[in-house]
Amino acid sequence: MNFDPSPNSQAYLARLKTFMQAHVYPIEKEILTENHRLNYHGDWRRWRVPAQIRQLKQQAREAGLWNLFLPDNELGQGLSCLEYAPLAEEMGKVSFAPEIFNCNAPDTGNMEVLYHFGDKKQKQTWLEPLLAGEIRSVFAMTEPGVASSDATNMQATIIEEGRKLVLNGTKWWTTGLGHPDAKVAIFMGLSNPENEKHARHAMVIVPLDSEGLEIKRMLTACQDYDAPYGHGELQLTNVKVPKDNLLVGMGKGFAIAQGRLGPGRIHHCMRAIGAAERCLELMIKRGFERVAFGKPVIKLGGNQERVAKARMAIDQARLLTLNAAWKIDTVGVKHAMTEISAIKVVVPNVLQEVSDMAIQMHGGAGVSGDFPLAGFNAAARVLRLADGPDEVHMGMVCRIELAKYQKGA
Ligand SMILES: Cc1cc2nc3c(=O)[nH]c(=O)nc-3n(C[C@H](O)[C@H](O)[C@H](O)COP(=O)(O)OP(=O)(O)OC[C@H]3O[C@@H](n4cnc5c(N)ncnc54)[C@H](O)[C@@H]3O)c2cc1C
Repeated sequence: MNFDPSPNSQAYLARLKTFMQAHVYPIEKEILTENHRLNYHGDWRRWRVPAQIRQLKQQAREAGLWNLFLPDNELGQGLSCLEYAPLAEEMGKVSFAPEIFNCNAPDTGNMEVLYHFGDKKQKQTWLEPLLAGEIRSVFAMTEPGVASSDATNMQATIIEEGRKLVLNGTKWWTTGLGHPDAKVAIFMGLSNPENEKHARHAMVIVPLDSEGLEIKRMLTACQDYDAPYGHGELQLTNVKVPKDNLLVGMGKGFAIAQGRLGPGRIHHCMRAIGAAERCLELMIKRGFERVAFGKPVIKLGGNQERVAKARMAIDQARLLTLNAAWKIDTVGVKHAMTEISAIKVVVPNVLQEVSDMAIQMHGGAGVSGDFPLAGFNAAARVLRLADGPDEVHMGMVCRIELAKYQKGA
């Protein structure tokens, strides 16, 4: 077990940091203000991507800081999960940065699905434009009518009709659905109700302009639309797509989901560590700057212990994440389920705790739009639900732990 960044990873990190310092941090506030001006007017159908983000995407691509998440030498930069971890952490320090490097959720997870499970035509039609950053995608699994933390509950249907598949159902919390470039969904539905429960569902590629597909609304998460990405509710009424849009086969949805959610979850965690690191940095700088009752705020009350607690929590979370990445690289997702589920619980909770401390030490400024802290705090809160709630992941850790003893009994 060696978590030292490889020379390749170190070189990419140095370039990424230079790019962030030169091009992203100096205009972070300007972009957030522009995003607010363009998109917070109550009509999600008119959401736009700030021109600066499109410009930065172009620059990042030209600089070779593009598709860093994909462990492929030609289509990505050939970095392993462990090598990618410090890069995702760096991107996580600014809310919109992952998109600049074509490394944002849910596209990275969807691109991985198409990369691993798509056939030649599916890759040409959808993976290529996604890798080029020309379009965006969504993942439509969760449904309002059923407890979706148990994915075997999904009720939306996929029925074969000649050379077509007919889709019906309602999905919600479909992240990225409001983005003006969102063109395609990976849809999960019930295809084989007669099978055992993990072989009942399938995944299908659905163009978002398909007849019968209607976006009903955008939901707010913690009172925020998260524009221009958004989290949408989607109605599918007799949507017909060619059978060629089926991924792998009928009843294979869970087999794909297992592969998709492993790397996707760990990427979320790596970015969240970057966000926590940024919160700590801002908390310390502010604590030194502001004086109350004759002392810098950092010296007051329990604030020094808070700094220590934040440092310890972040470092523990990072080590756990690197360990999960190392296991994915060495033994594969299926044999790293404890580690992946463990970080999916630990890291969002650490970010929630650290962002909360940082907000408190900033006083009123902490909850204002002048600092990214409230945004990070909300992101941590929703991350404890998205990609499965804490309890489901703890259930997984416990199940694997108990099985060790049951096997031997
Ligand atoms: C901001 C955001 C973005 C999202 N993005 C997407 C997306 O892009 N695509 C998508 O398909 N979905 C997405 N989701 C949906 C997310 O994956 C689900 O909300 C989550 O899986 C929980 O499902 P549910 O909301 O139906 O809660 P329910 O299944 O109704 O669960 C409610 C609560 O029950 C408790 N619970 C559940 N299981 C257990 C257990 N085993 N033990 C103890 N308690 C338990 C938990 O406290 C849980 O929070 C997103 C959600 C959010 C908030």
